[in-house]
Amino acid sequence: MSDCIFCKIANGEIATNFVAETELSVAFWDIAPQKPVHVLVVPKEHHSNVGELAFANQAALVDLIQLGDKVASQLSTGSYRFTFNTGAEAGQTVFHAHGHITSETPKEQLV
Ligand code: AMP
Ligand code: ZN
Repeated sequence: MSDCIFCKIANGEIATNFVAETELSVAFWDIAPQKPVHVLVVPKEHHSNVGELAFANQAALVDLIQLGDKVASQLSTGSYRFTFNTGAEAGQTVFHAHGHITSETPKEQLV
């Protein structure tokens, strides 16, 4: 999708604060973090929400969850939320599937 901001981030057209990448997914810091840890995990393939991703490409969905869990364990104590807003009335503003990894407990707070 040529006018989709997360497609542009995933294909490198728009720079962002990247955290990690797999063949199927990217993870980057949310531009307006709501919590001490707030990272988005995004499939490289365009689907408008997580349900559509699940029906269209199960491997990409599993990869997304695995990448989110890995990033959460790297950046936080491992206690985190994984949120998928679906639909404008539920707060979805970017219509390219993405999960929010949020945590109140960044790893560095342990030391
Ligand atoms: P949602 O409201 O669930 O659709 O989430 C969209 C999220 O994308 C919001 O938390 C925004 O802050 C975030 N966002 C929008 N544009 C960018 C961007 N260019 N880089 C990083 N995060 C972004
Ligand atoms: Zn897209």
